[in-house]
This record gives sequence, structure tokens and C-alpha cells, in this order.
Amino acid sequence: MTSTKIKNKYAAKRLDNIPPYLFAEIDKKKQAAIERGVDIINLGIGDPDQPTPKHIVDAMHKAIDDPSTHNYPPYEGTKEFRKACVQWHSKRFGLPEFNPNTECVSSIGMKEAIHNMILATVDEDDYSLIPSPAYPVYKTSTIMCGGVPHIMPLREDNSFLVDFDLIPEEVAKKAKIMFLNYPNNPTGAFASKEFYEKVITFAKRHDILVCQDAAYSENYFDEANKPISIFEVKGAKDVAVEFFSLSKGYNMTGWRVGFTVGNPDAIQALGTVKTNIDSGVFKAIQNTAIKALTDDQSHMDPQRKLYKERAAVAEEGLKSLGWQIKRPCQGTLYIWQPIPPKYKSSIDFAADMLDKAGIVVPPGIGYGDYGEGYFRIALSAEKSRIEEAIVRMKQNGLVFEE
Ligand SMILES: *Cc1c(COP(=O)(O)O)cnc(C)c1O
Repeated sequence: MTSTKIKNKYAAKRLDNIPPYLFAEIDKKKQAAIERGVDIINLGIGDPDQPTPKHIVDAMHKAIDDPSTHNYPPYEGTKEFRKACVQWHSKRFGLPEFNPNTECVSSIGMKEAIHNMILATVDEDDYSLIPSPAYPVYKTSTIMCGGVPHIMPLREDNSFLVDFDLIPEEVAKKAKIMFLNYPNNPTGAFASKEFYEKVITFAKRHDILVCQDAAYSENYFDEANKPISIFEVKGAKDVAVEFFSLSKGYNMTGWRVGFTVGNPDAIQALGTVKTNIDSGVFKAIQNTAIKALTDDQSHMDPQRKLYKERAAVAEEGLKSLGWQIKRPCQGTLYIWQPIPPKYKSSIDFAADMLDKAGIVVPPGIGYGDYGEGYFRIALSAEKSRIEEAIVRMKQNGLVFEE
């Protein structure tokens, strides 16, 4: 999350430009409600509530007992880890394997890779094309690195995909990098091959590095509707990288492990930054991640079913309260819906949800200006809690009326 505006004698000027933390007000209200003893239903957390699968935890016990994991790891990730990553990517998406030495690098979770990729590619005054609503890191890291964020609106009438016709020619010329995130947080949108083809054509025309955030590549509900890789588009490797993480798909947010694959120049630049800033991922965690990526993946099935059921409960509930649910959730951890029309802002709605019904939902504006008018429900709460939330919304008039 972005930080509160820092004003103190030690803080660097670059921190002044970080946007204010928009959830601060809601956080304060939430804390006060907890202190009053309110039974809070938290539908705000973008973090899987299930534990890391047992076979992965068991692998960690073994890995940590092996003293060869205790020293500094290679900066770019162990050979075995990078090999497991490129093999996983190839098998998962049915694509040729990346070169593990030149086209793959490990990361300490994905957040680190996003920040460091910006540091590695964006010079002072370079433009960085950033979707809105979006995960806040693309914008804050661009600002911290001296780049200029140019916002690309994601609109519901365009299925929350980027519309390249809206990007002015002068901006495209000065743009160095573009961020995409599909499956998308917070909108839940998925991208098609046709969309990625447009992305690659645009990026090639303007020589822009495309950074596709695939944090939710494994958080899908149905085999028939699996997220695809941007590398399904021919020639994508000329201009793109794709970020992966074990956080959301494998219930491993605390472990801090992920990887980036794609264009070798971009991977090399990222590697140079990382070599000078961090010292890689704990080898025991890399060994455990190898196990997670190479083992039978069928343990994911019950989890997919669980999220699908929760989404159905939330959507049926919202429908009973007047919401239309125009695009049912098909993956990620999120449901993204408009606030009732009688509310002027998503913050007002989120505040009423908390004050009247004891429900925490992040206001859409927290994800950028184009998130205004929406709210997000995270599926990391038990079905019974989601049901209870719907009951409380109904009792308190938190319904969708034209
Ligand atoms: C959670 C999240 C990340 C960060 O994942 P980590 O690997 O835990 O750092 C990146 N992008 C999006 C869109 C996310 O929601």
C-alpha cells in the first residue's frame, strides 16, 4: 500500500510526491469499530485466507535442514530454481521454454520485481503507462524513480481493457514502459489473445517495454477459462516481460518468492539493479518453490472450487439486493461492482458499509481515479461471513437502487 504523506526533516523530497494513502480514513474507522467490540466482517483483504499447502510446508522443513541453503543465494536465483520457473511457464501455457540463464530472474515476491524493473528502465521524465484502477505500486514506484505516470483508464464498457486509441501520440513517443495486469486486480477482468495482440503491436510501434503482472495467473475458477500468457502472441518476447509470484496462487504471500521471464535486455537490466540492491531469495525458499512449481498441481482444484463458491454466494447475494452483476467473476480474489447510485463517492459508501453494517470493503478510489464509483469485495472470507454480510447490507438499506 502507498504510505501516508510523510512530512519530516529526514524524508527525501521524492516521498512528497507519493499519493496520499486513501484507506487511512477507513482504517481509522475500522480500528475504532473493533475497539467498540463490533463484529467486523472483513471483505477487504487481498490475501488468501487458506494456509500454504502441506506438501509445500513439508518441503520447507527439509530444505531448511540442509546447510547448503544457509549461505548467500545467487542474485539472479539458483540455476535449479530458474530452470523450474521456465519449465513451469512452458508447461502451464504450452509455449517454448525461456532460456533460464538470460530470460529469467528470481524475485523477492513480485512487488520487488515491479519496483526494480521501473528503476532499471525508467529515466527521469520518461513516461510510464499505468492502468487505473490498479495495484498502486506501478504508480508510486514510477514517481519514486522520477518517471512520469500516464494513466490509462480501464472502463467497464471496454471490459476493463486498455484502449490504446486514447493514448496521445506525444505520450506514446516518450513512454518507456507500460504496465498491464491480467487477470486484473481490482476489476477481475481477464485478457484475450486479441487484446494482447493489440498490446504488442502498439508496444512495437512505439518501442515500449510491456510489463504484464500475472500475479493471479493461477487464480481461475474453470479449466475452460484459464488465463493466458502474453507470450502466446508471436514476437511478444521482443518487447515484453511477464511477472509471476507464488503469493496468490499457492497461498504463499508471506514467503516472498516469484520470478520474471521475457525479453533478455529487460531481464539483464533488472538483474543489474537487483545485484546492487538485494541478495536474492533464501535458498531454502527457492528449493521449496521448485517443489511447489514442479509437483502435481491438482491440490489447486479444491481451492479453485472454494473461491468459485464464494464468488457465487457474493454475486447471488448482491443480485438479491439489486445489483446486476453484468460480468460474473471468473477468477482473481475479487468482485468489483458499482456503488449504489445514491452515493456520491466510493469512500462514502465504504464508510456506510462499515458504520452501519460492520463490513470492511475498500473504496474503488483507493485503486486510482478510475476506480471511483466502484467497490471491491475480496473472496478471502468464509462463505458464511459473506452470507452474513449480505444479510446485514439488506437490514441496513445498503442496496442498489436506481
Ligand atoms: C498481490 C499483488 C502483487 C504482489 O504480489 P507479491 O508477489 O506478494 O509481491 C502484484 N500485483 C498485483 C496486481 C497484486 O494484487
